[in-house]
Amino acid sequence: MEKKVSRIIKKGKIDAPICEPCASCGVKCCNRFAVPLTGFDVARIAEATGFEAQEFCRLEKAELIGEAPHSKIFIVEGGKIEERLLALKRRKNEYCVFSLHSSGCAIWGAHPYACIVYPFELGEDGKIRYGNNFVCPRKWADGEFDAKKTGEAIRKMREEIEGYNKIVRKWNAQFAKEGDEKKFFAYLLKESREKAVEKK
Ligand code: SF4
Ligand code: SF4
Repeated sequence: MEKKVSRIIKKGKIDAPICEPCASCGVKCCNRFAVPLTGFDVARIAEATGFEAQEFCRLEKAELIGEAPHSKIFIVEGGKIEERLLALKRRKNEYCVFSLHSSGCAIWGAHPYACIVYPFELGEDGKIRYGNNFVCPRKWADGEFDAKKTGEAIRKMREEIEGYNKIVRKWNAQFAKEGDEKKFFAYLLKESREKAVEKK
């Protein structure tokens, strides 16, 4: 995996320099959280990198992620049904598999919505604000982020989570009792690609 990430960077395929305020922060958010994904995020990253989903995703124990609007996936493991959430893999040092540390993100441009919108959330009043319990140490100044684009990204992320949750609920209803991880990823990519095409 590390070698493959390096190859992508060398090819200059989707690498982009990190900008302020993230450049001076030590990219703290890329080593703190399990980044939750939807199947649409997974399909975009797989297409951009050529990786198999299982190379960069994992089915994380639901209790390790905490509250997330993403539906829990039922999966058979060791003869038992387990509850999982879909997340980016992390290295032993907790950094995301795509982190280039102070040089940024190896999949910039195809990075998941959870990363795109961080550290902001959309209030009920329609205004963008810092998310509760986020670790970002930096108060972003006006002009360092685009409130309109961030708002659009948050709305798009919510829409995709809704679509993804329907896909997961269908899996849970139909396949959970016999579905292992490999089958789940095959199902997820097929459904997500079909739904993404339907929307175009
Ligand atoms: S979003 Fe915040 S925590 Fe994450 S890299 Fe940027 S400044 Fe650092
Ligand atoms: S995908 Fe990129 S931005 Fe998101 S956690 Fe990983 S390295 Fe950071």
